Amino acid sequence: MNNATDTIETTKSRPRKWLLTQNSQLRREGIFNWTLPAFAVKLPDGTNFNVCPQAGACAALCYARVGAYRFKNVRAAHIRNLLLCRDSPKEWEDRMTEELSHKRYKGKWVRLHDAGDFFSDDYLSAWLRIIKDSPDVRFYCYTKEISRFKRLVEPTNPENFLWCYSLGGREDYLINRERERHADVFPDVGALTAAGYSDQTESDLLSVLSESPLVGIPANDIPHLKRRQGSETFGSLQEGLDAKLAEKRNRAAGRSLRLAS
Ligand code: SF4
Repeated sequence: MNNATDTIETTKSRPRKWLLTQNSQLRREGIFNWTLPAFAVKLPDGTNFNVCPQAGACAALCYARVGAYRFKNVRAAHIRNLLLCRDSPKEWEDRMTEELSHKRYKGKWVRLHDAGDFFSDDYLSAWLRIIKDSPDVRFYCYTKEISRFKRLVEPTNPENFLWCYSLGGREDYLINRERERHADVFPDVGALTAAGYSDQTESDLLSVLSESPLVGIPANDIPHLKRRQGSETFGSLQEGLDAKLAEKRNRAAGRSLRLAS
C-alpha cells in the first residue's frame, strides 16, 4: 500500500501533498481512501490512544495490525494522519474539504478508514460536515461505532454517505442483523454463502451497494490469522466474548448479593 500522504506534482515548482491515497486494491476500483492506524497505538509523545474504541473480537484478527501496515513508513504516515485530525481538527477539516473540491475527486468514491474507526463524536461530526460540503464526492465506510452512528449519522443521513456496520465489536448487540446492513468476516466464500450472506470480493463497494444487506467478507489470506479464526466468524467470536463477559458479571453480582445478605 502507499504512504498516507502521497506527494504528487501539481505544478513544476510546488508539489502537493494529498491527504487521501489509494492502496492497490482500491486503486483498481478508482476509490480513494483516508486511513488511520488500527486499534491501540503508542504515539510519539509516549501516550497510548485507542483508534477503535468499540473493537472487540476483531482486534486479535485485524489485518491492519500485521504485514505492510507495520512497515515503519506506513505506520508513521498513519500516525501523522491521526495526530492531524485529532490534535489539529480545524486545520485537518479545512485541508480535507479543500482537497475534496479538486477535480480528481469529482464523481469518485472515498472510503473512510481501511484501518481505524470514528474514535470520537467530534471526529465523526467533522466528517459529516466535510461530506455535506463535498456534494460531488461519494463516501462510504465500515464501522463498529454503532451507537455513535445511530445518534449522529442515522438521523441526518447525508445523501452522499453510505455505511455498513461491521461485526466483531463490543456493540454488535445493537445491530438488527435481519434489517440493518452489516458485514461479517467468514473463513472463506463457501462459509459466507452457506450462511446466506452476499460475497463482496468482486468490489469493496458491494459493502454498501449490494442488494442484500448481509455482506460477507472472506478472511484475508494471512495464514496465522486464518488459523486463529478457524471456522468462526468475527460475529460468532464476539458472541462468545459477550457470553463470557455476561457470565463474569452474573458471578460478580451473585457474590455482591451474598455479601449483602
Ligand atoms: S475496528 Fe477494524 S481496524 Fe480497528 S481493530 Fe477492529 S478490524 Fe482492526
